[in-house]
This record gives sequence, C-alpha cells and structure tokens, in this order.
Amino acid sequence: LPRPGPDTPHPRTARVNTLKMSVEEVLRWMAQPPAEHRKWAAVGALARRDDLLPDLLAFPPGTDLHDHPLVATGALILQSKASCMPAHALVPRPGWAVVDACAAPGNKTTHLAALMGNAGSIAAFEKDGKRVERLRANAAATGSSIISPRHADFLGIDPEAPEFKGVRGVLLDPSCSGSGTAFSRMDYLLPSSADRLKGQAAVEHCDERVEALAQFQQAAILHALRFPALQRLVYSTCSVHARENEGVVAAVLPEATARGFRLEAPFPSWRRRGVPGSVEGAEKLVRVDPDEDGTDGFFVALFVRAAAADGQAG
Ligand code: SAM
Repeated sequence: LPRPGPDTPHPRTARVNTLKMSVEEVLRWMAQPPAEHRKWAAVGALARRDDLLPDLLAFPPGTDLHDHPLVATGALILQSKASCMPAHALVPRPGWAVVDACAAPGNKTTHLAALMGNAGSIAAFEKDGKRVERLRANAAATGSSIISPRHADFLGIDPEAPEFKGVRGVLLDPSCSGSGTAFSRMDYLLPSSADRLKGQAAVEHCDERVEALAQFQQAAILHALRFPALQRLVYSTCSVHARENEGVVAAVLPEATARGFRLEAPFPSWRRRGVPGSVEGAEKLVRVDPDEDGTDGFFVALFVRAAAADGQAG
C-alpha cells in the first residue's frame, strides 16, 4: 500500500458485518470465491486485515467493491476506517439498551448491532424523514433486528422517560461540517486568485456555520448525559475543526464532570490524540488526520461514568 501523505488516495475499506459472516468466513470466500463469482478472486487476493479494527478489511486505493457479491448480501459494508472507530470506542455489550442519537443512514447503528450480536436494543433517532427510510432499509439489509428507527428530534425526547431508564450507551455522531472527508477537503484546494477570494468568503461563512454546529453538538451531548443509567457516551465528528472537536468537549466537560463522567482513552495504541493544551484530558481524545492516517479526518471522545469505569461497565 502507498505511504500516506496529502496527495495519497486512501485505501478502500470494507467492514465485515459479523451478523452475516465472520471475518474468517469472508477471507475464505475472498481467497476462493464460489464458481459463479470466480472473477472476484483477484480482488480477494488484495484483502488484508486492518491493524486496529478486527472487523475491517483494507484494499488498495481505487479498488471497486460496489458490485461485490458480499456487499450485495450485506456481509460487507463499504465504510471508512475512521467511521468504524466510534462504535468500537463505545464497546456496547450484548443485551445493553443503546441510543444512537443522530443515526441515519445508519452505518454506525448497524455496526453497533453487529458488535452487540443482535442482542439488546438500539433506539436510533433521526430527524429527517427521508433519511429515516434509508436507516430502516440499512437495518433490514444488514439483518440488524435490534434497531428501532425513530423519526424524531433527539433534543425533543425526554431522556428521563421510563422507556429510557435502562440506556447504558449512547453514540452521538451529529451533523458536522464534514471538513475531514475527501469531498469537503477538495473545496479548500482552490487554485486561482479569484478562487482564493471565494475561498476567503467561504472560510468566513464557514466560521459562522461551524459555530452554529458546535452549539448544537454541545446541546446534544448535554442532553445525552441526562439518561439516568448511562455508562458510556461516544461523541464523534468527521470534522477537522477544533471548535467542533476539542472545543465542544471543553464546553461540556464541567457539566459532564459534575454528572460523574470523565474522559477515557479509546484505542490506547492510537498515537494521534487531541490538540495538546486545548482541553484537560486532550491526550485521551482521538484525532484522525485525513492526510496522514489513510482515512477520513475524524474525532472521537469517550465519556465514561466514574462508577462504570471502576468495574461496572460489563
Ligand atoms: N451516524 C450516521 C452514520 O454513521 O451513518 C451519520 C450521522 S450524520 C453525521 C448526522 C445525522 O443526524 C443526519 O442524518 C441528520 O439528519 C441527523 N440529525 C441532525 N440533527 C438531529 C437531531 N436534532 N435529532 C436527530 N437527528 C438529527
């Protein structure tokens, strides 16, 4: 695989949906596809396991997997490595009641269902009606039967309502600027001087937009911390802006601390952490650099209730 760098395309990745096939079964299929799918053997020979996430396979940049038979069956899901990190960071246990606060199209929701072995429940909130339908279709295609899609504004639900009294994990992947994704990064690479001026206007507009997004992200975290039995909350964005990442964590940390939560470090072997000095505990935050880490720019923060961190997380 090519060395990472700003001009290097990212490897393609596919998550194994372990509700349909194990990683070993997928690798066996890849090495020796059934007779009617022999042409996929060449692609299969390129597959390697990701070194961080046990259910992720990586392929060279540009590998086209869209028509792969295992994508059609829902056994493989085309998902970036970074976007597979939040569900792993939550470590949801089979049998838990979990909330996905901003869920559609549901790549992380279905990942949670796989990690839970389809045991327990996931209430998946999405405020956009069309996107709820995509979430519903995604849950069906992947066999994720514990997902209950809910067409609702997460900020409008009452976390203290009896139906949520057992919620132990929340995944919060709210709307963000998307500045870490390949498409968005291309917007910033404006060549001519006229385009640079446009770029300046875009940056100013971007500042206002990012601030509005950050205000929503903060409100959503504070809302999620109100689930009475909550043990673990993962907050993630595909943004590279500090305001949406460390800035949001810094803003909610006093109330999170008052409610008994502290930051914990997911993926201890991952070296890129929060911007030093930006917030107390920055070294516990996960940053993914789109130029250096071979996947989308991402941010992951894990809040754990102190009592849970002391041994009651299982
Ligand atoms: N986690 C999703 C995945 O991996 O497939 C992607 C989520 S996307 C970044 C954010 C989603 O949150 C959008 O579908 C958006 O419509 C939804 N959303 C934004 N504000 C919301 C709110 N207040 N309540 C519920 N959903 C919301």
